[in-house]
Amino acid sequence: MPEDRLHAPVGDAVSHVPLGQYIGGDFRPGRGSMRAVHCPSNGHLLAQIEDAIASDLDEAVAAASEAQRAWADMGPVARGVALKSAAARIRDSAEELALIDALDCGNPLQGMRFDIGLGATLMEYFAGLTAEAKGETIPQPGNKLTFVTREPMGVVARIVPFNHPALFAIAKLAAPLAAGNAVILKPSEETPLSALRVADLIGDLFPKGLIAVLTGGADIGAAICAHPGIAAVGLIGSVPTGRAVMRGSAETLKQTQLELGGKNALVICEDADVKRAIAGAVKGMNLGWTAGQSCGSTSRVLVHERHYDTVVAGIAAEFDAVRLGRPEEEGTEMGCLSTEAQYNKVQGFIDRALTSGARMAAGGPPKGVPAEGFFVRPTLFCDVAADAEIAREEVFGPVLTVLPWRDEAEMLSVVNGLDVGLTASVWTRDIDRAMRLTRRIEAGYVWVNDTSDHYLGAPFGGVKQSGIGREECLGEMLAYTETKTVTIVSQG
Ligand code: NAD
Repeated sequence: MPEDRLHAPVGDAVSHVPLGQYIGGDFRPGRGSMRAVHCPSNGHLLAQIEDAIASDLDEAVAAASEAQRAWADMGPVARGVALKSAAARIRDSAEELALIDALDCGNPLQGMRFDIGLGATLMEYFAGLTAEAKGETIPQPGNKLTFVTREPMGVVARIVPFNHPALFAIAKLAAPLAAGNAVILKPSEETPLSALRVADLIGDLFPKGLIAVLTGGADIGAAICAHPGIAAVGLIGSVPTGRAVMRGSAETLKQTQLELGGKNALVICEDADVKRAIAGAVKGMNLGWTAGQSCGSTSRVLVHERHYDTVVAGIAAEFDAVRLGRPEEEGTEMGCLSTEAQYNKVQGFIDRALTSGARMAAGGPPKGVPAEGFFVRPTLFCDVAADAEIAREEVFGPVLTVLPWRDEAEMLSVVNGLDVGLTASVWTRDIDRAMRLTRRIEAGYVWVNDTSDHYLGAPFGGVKQSGIGREECLGEMLAYTETKTVTIVSQG
């Protein structure tokens, strides 16, 4: 790797990352301008990579299209074997990949180790589902046979964000590959390193060109949406980007899968086990995983007024005890925000909440961490109006708002009063209340007496403007197939 393109702050942790575009089975420089990749915990330059532009994309799609036919023809068993081998290589390189992500996105090593394991598990899960892209037969008179097959779509694209770089690179390749597609993967321009290393580690297990990794920002993302050779786009990202992807895909009538943002409610009822609910509210913020930068984070707590003071004091005490540190150091409980833009956005929300009179029960300037890093202490706001910005907008950071409620119907109107609905969490010991609230809450995933955890095969995704489609389940793989109906008339 040329020296002028890499200045790793921690030994040679990222020195195995190929700094180019992965197209047709090889790495080469993109034709766009050079982009710097920085370490968010100390501001050091990690790498420089030339962006991919439209002509790079054309080459990637042409190579992927050719490889896809061979891959589809291999059949489900051979595809499953290749995906399982890929998962094994990822597990073998888990430490390296976790360290790359810790440096590149600011999440602690322990959380990124979990991510690599989860990505490999999801890849193994989809490897085992390759034979489930089944069809059906339709009853006909004796001389006719009508059947429906499921076929791969061809070349599809997956565009992913900065908060789980390796996990999303690994897991979002898996479902469309299992179904027999080729995949163009676009990581976030802020955190592209682990996706490039993943392609390097597993690329030779597949027909040359089947996987492409193109780095860059909104421009190459928009070119992907507009490309006539790409059949579908799956985005994990923000609501505004979801709209842009849908608009950009309209001209070529591409299918879109959208996993977008949320402002997820955690409801504590009068009869809840308050101690457990407090621990659940802290867990739901995913502080140790992503410093709160998780789409599913339950970032607004609605607590019955009887427990309001106890819950505010309990969460504040747990927030104050969280140890911030360098993401790549063992024992760090919470890292930093992944990008400068995200840091500025989160600070803006905090400043405006304070100006508008909200009470900050936990938070303030971080101590004992590099001043150049994008560190934000876990921050708790209370005494906030239900219609305040901090109670309604996705912050995507370690900022939690607590609101009191007295009447269940009013509480539900606050919970459901937003345009988004990704996750929710309900804390109660009353089964009737649990069933009533899970039915009435508008969200794609609801936990009762828990938060955050995902389960293999359990669909994850949002309602309203939190997205379209479900992932981490059979439906994700089937979303990257098309049905074909065939009728055969016997002439015998
Ligand atoms: P983002 O929307 O800014 O970017 C996501 C990806 O889209 C990046 O790769 C980016 O380069 C690309 N992109 C940007 N503009 C584009 C355009 N016009 N056309 C095509 N691609 C474009 O999101 P982010 O800031 O990286 O991530 C944070 C957001 O992601 C939050 O809103 C969060 O809730 C959401 N998210 C959702 C899920 C989920 O499963 N629902 C998971 C993680 C993150």
